[in-house]
Amino acid sequence: MLKNYSRRDFILQNLMVGAGMGLTSMVPYRPRKDDLPAILGGPKAHAGDWSRWPIWKPETDEARVLDVLRSGKWSRANVVADFEARWAELIGSKRCLTLVNGTNSLFVSLLQLGIGGGDEVILPPYTFIACPQAILATGAIPVFADIDKATYQIDPKKLEAKITPRTKAILPVHILGFPCDMVSIMKIAKKHNLVVVEDACQAWLAEIDHKKVGTFGDAGCFSFQNSKNIPMGEGGAIVSDNDEFMDRCYSYHNYGLAHGSVKPEPGGSFVMAGTKLRLTEYQAAIGFSQLVRFQDQTDLRERNAAYLKSLLENIPGIITYSVYENVTKSVFHLFPFRYDQEQFKGLPRSEFLNALRAEGVPCSSGYVPLNKMPYLEHAFKSKNFQKMYTAEELDIQKYNENNSCPLNDELCEEAVWLSQNMLLGNRTDMENIAHAIQKIHKNADKIKKQNA
Ligand SMILES: *Cc1c(COP(=O)(O)O)cnc(C)c1O
Repeated sequence: MLKNYSRRDFILQNLMVGAGMGLTSMVPYRPRKDDLPAILGGPKAHAGDWSRWPIWKPETDEARVLDVLRSGKWSRANVVADFEARWAELIGSKRCLTLVNGTNSLFVSLLQLGIGGGDEVILPPYTFIACPQAILATGAIPVFADIDKATYQIDPKKLEAKITPRTKAILPVHILGFPCDMVSIMKIAKKHNLVVVEDACQAWLAEIDHKKVGTFGDAGCFSFQNSKNIPMGEGGAIVSDNDEFMDRCYSYHNYGLAHGSVKPEPGGSFVMAGTKLRLTEYQAAIGFSQLVRFQDQTDLRERNAAYLKSLLENIPGIITYSVYENVTKSVFHLFPFRYDQEQFKGLPRSEFLNALRAEGVPCSSGYVPLNKMPYLEHAFKSKNFQKMYTAEELDIQKYNENNSCPLNDELCEEAVWLSQNMLLGNRTDMENIAHAIQKIHKNADKIKKQNA
């Protein structure tokens, strides 16, 4: 009953979007007359609001959460277990374990696949800080392999070139919601006998050849943090088909208490080193409320992204994303493009971003290079690292040289991001974004002059 109502609600809302689509698709989109950019006193290209995030509909979303609150069962129990079963089913994995967040899902996966002190784990530099931090937390050293600017993903050839006798694992990241080249990466992993933990923390439901990302490697990790496409405040999950591995993860996240194939021993039932990383019942209930809209939202983002991409492709100096040929679904945690300052009369990206914001189009410059930030040296100077590695292995100068990623440096200077909630609008909203950028492009020299 509850489910039906909210689904109808969503369809109604979508029908209106659909009606808008019908109208605009009758009239092919044309850049509008040459009005002044908002930053120079002209009208905003987008005067309205964007979809709020997270979306919360009291009438449909609160009942399940209230049930949990009134039950007094707040710590891990049935609702969490039900959510795990549902998530495993959605992703097409045998097992799912939820945890407190995506960061710890990565950490626990690596740890329970045997990664630790003395090991190297290869990852892309174009990612969220959680990735290298999860590797460092195991005692292993993160090794950065450069990216492909067209797809924003780790370049498998660069990855293979980074393999040494110490390499034990690969942490590929499906960044921005686009699948990375998992087919090539799995071939490399098999050839060199490496563990693979997929970071799908931005790629819920993304697919390669109709197979969900997170199911290619030894483990797949997800995040349900507030900004993510399926938000529950904080939350994360590991999926895998490997029962013994999943039992170890379960035990680890629950104080090392025996679980499944991790059997109690004659000496007692706390058989593993572990800690406590359990999701709560009300978080899982919030997750269920979001799941009702999740697939329709994912499809809507994909449609709007395709339309927006088609509009931006016509603007000189805006370089749109590419996806690998075998990708059957991208899920757009972010909508990225690259900004070519030269084609905008030398207007710096920071000034382009300000001009775009003035048009009513929120945007950001995205990631900074994670392969050269102070946290690495801090970890290398820690007591544990000093005991596990030689001074030469912890030479930060040498580390920086070996981990330079020039293409990533360029990408971090060129990228512009729009956030996923903006893709929940209608076709006119997408046209407003394109129009805003058109205006800035046409008047780039004036904006530059005003700022000088
Ligand atoms: C959000 C995110 C994480 C970490 O997830 P949290 O739930 O915030 O801990 C890891 N990797 C990527 C790529 C992410 O975007």
